[in-house]
Amino acid sequence: MKNILTNVINPVSCEVIQFLPEQVISIEGSKITAIIPKQEFQGIVDEDLSHQFALPGFIDLHIHLSQYYIRGLYEPALLPWLNKYVFPEEARSKDNEYAQKLSRDFFSALLKDGTTTAVIYTAPFFEACNTAFEIASEIGIRALIGMTLMDKNCPEPLKQDSHKAIEDSFLLYEKWHNKNAKLDYVFTPRFAPTCSMELMQEIGKFAKKHNAWIQTHLSENKAELNLVKELFGFDNYTLVYEKAGLLSEHSIFAHCIHLEDSELQLLAENKCKIAHCPDSNFFLKSGEFPIKRIEEKGIAYGLGSDVGSGTTINMLYHTKMMNYRQSWEPVSAAKALYYITLGSARLLGLDSEIGSLETGKEADIVFIEPAEDFLVDDNIISKLVFCESDFTITHTLVGGKEL
Ligand SMILES: [Zn+2]
Repeated sequence: MKNILTNVINPVSCEVIQFLPEQVISIEGSKITAIIPKQEFQGIVDEDLSHQFALPGFIDLHIHLSQYYIRGLYEPALLPWLNKYVFPEEARSKDNEYAQKLSRDFFSALLKDGTTTAVIYTAPFFEACNTAFEIASEIGIRALIGMTLMDKNCPEPLKQDSHKAIEDSFLLYEKWHNKNAKLDYVFTPRFAPTCSMELMQEIGKFAKKHNAWIQTHLSENKAELNLVKELFGFDNYTLVYEKAGLLSEHSIFAHCIHLEDSELQLLAENKCKIAHCPDSNFFLKSGEFPIKRIEEKGIAYGLGSDVGSGTTINMLYHTKMMNYRQSWEPVSAAKALYYITLGSARLLGLDSEIGSLETGKEADIVFIEPAEDFLVDDNIISKLVFCESDFTITHTLVGGKEL
């Protein structure tokens, strides 16, 4: 048992974030066993962090492990950027020593910046993905991890044999699903232009049968949309994934910028989820997330860093970008914080375990110290989102363990 005196910031809904000054958080094993105001607490405080505050660990809904080293390399559109930087870098992960170092650096960096749960794409190699699982398991972070699938329209070193790619995906699923409470497999066709219909259909069928997670990209960039039309001949992009059997309540589609109303309807009817990646959309000049139309359809979404086209793994930065990347729609600090905590936990069906600081939940906690001239009062939530570089993350706990 450990008792920590601190201030608590606790997301309740996309409009409400509680600020609870001077609380003692008690942790036993992996769980929070009590959060009690200091004046009512009768035990012994083990750690005094009263000049800091605690938040639930951050959730990143969309990130490419294999692109961690190339963040910040600029090319002003999706398809040229993939060819110039992403594909050559992902090919390096075929060397498993490289993949090991990359995984270690990546997971350490996530934890350092307060991310305790991430939904991850790896390079299109069985070993690179398996290595990511092994290192995540050893470190103790929470993650959904998937081997990126590509069986056409990509450079030779990355191109997978369709049947082997399907088999390897099933093997990885069987190896890592239900083996570790913090980890799961997510089927990961990169996006329609690099995947055959057969590959996507086999993956869709298996995932549906097992209620497994699927992730891919959808409607990010106009040139990509034209390419999908040329390759598949469907009236719109979402119809390709519908035909492939990839639309389900366990499917997470990144971006979703240029969708027609009928596509939004299709996503809503199938209870699909969206990973919104504002920094990446800004970096590659992909377009603006249609936040109002997506909210009107009631489609669940959360925030992703999309590193490497996102420039940083720091999710607080992405909360600011969620506001800045809307020309006219205001996004409050509370709302943005909700989408890296409880909102994304709900999307993943993990909100009984993580996403907020409550008795009985897993102790996934980030402790943050503000710049000296910031008072820790209820204004701190807005300052945290909009002045994120004035804050220092001092400790990150996953399941009660400091990582
Ligand atoms: Zn991405």
